[in-house]
Amino acid sequence: MAYPLPTSLSPSKVSTFKDCALAFRFSAIDKLPEPPSVPAVKGTTVHRALELLFAAEPADRTPELAQECLQEALIEMRTEEEYQGLDLDDVESAAFAADAAVMVERYFTLEDPRAIRPVGLEMMLEAEVGGITVRGIIDRLEEDADGQLVVTDYKTGRTPSVQQEQSRLGGVHFYAFLCQQVLGRIPARIQLVYLGAQPQVITTTPSEQSVRGMERKVGAIWAAVERACEQEDFRPKKSALCNWCAFQAYCPAFGGDPDQARAIAIAREAAEVAEQDQAVDLRTTDATAC
Ligand code: SF4
Repeated sequence: MAYPLPTSLSPSKVSTFKDCALAFRFSAIDKLPEPPSVPAVKGTTVHRALELLFAAEPADRTPELAQECLQEALIEMRTEEEYQGLDLDDVESAAFAADAAVMVERYFTLEDPRAIRPVGLEMMLEAEVGGITVRGIIDRLEEDADGQLVVTDYKTGRTPSVQQEQSRLGGVHFYAFLCQQVLGRIPARIQLVYLGAQPQVITTTPSEQSVRGMERKVGAIWAAVERACEQEDFRPKKSALCNWCAFQAYCPAFGGDPDQARAIAIAREAAEVAEQDQAVDLRTTDATAC
């Protein structure tokens, strides 16, 4: 029995597949839940604070307002399952908020938000390309002084070394590809804004050629995913990323059994179908009663 194909490709799925096909299967096909992590939830909080900042009038986008936006983002986040799943005590919760505040403060060492004209915040772009649904969320899309599009991706993790820069930038061309497909325009610039310990902006300039290259790459990765699904062949690839992988318990490289993950996925899919059938039955019963 072949594995079901995932419904879409996104930048994170593309890089997961390239890093480790088995981790891709666990995440995109088996859809195993991943426990929340402090860095990921903190990143989401900082993204939300900056989104709120850019929703304000340009002249109001001050460091003080940014910290108020962060407080609002923290209030929102504390009601979310992912934050509650971290189970932070008071001291850890205060450290979480303090770290996020430092990242928001660092942002102002890199850009002046009053000079930026956003045209989209946390913007979902989706397109059908060669039978594949490609989608991605752009943190911030803006127009520069010449009316050209600029894509900004905030990063709250570690700033890459010079050697790592090119590989990090490879993925962002996916956003240029999406802009071309959905908006009919290739951005003049894509920038990664790193808010970690060594704040830095890394910029790349996409071109017709790089966008075509990305289109070919997406097609090739989709073909590899189809092949892996058809042949039920998703192999583990050990690397430093294993240290952060939530699926080690199912990974043969760590003594786990990937079939257990499939069994969990099949049971979950069956429960979802049963739940949908039950909902249909209830609606039919209600309609008959009326
Ligand atoms: S632990 Fe490593 S090899 Fe195993 S699935 Fe995760 S990333 Fe892949």
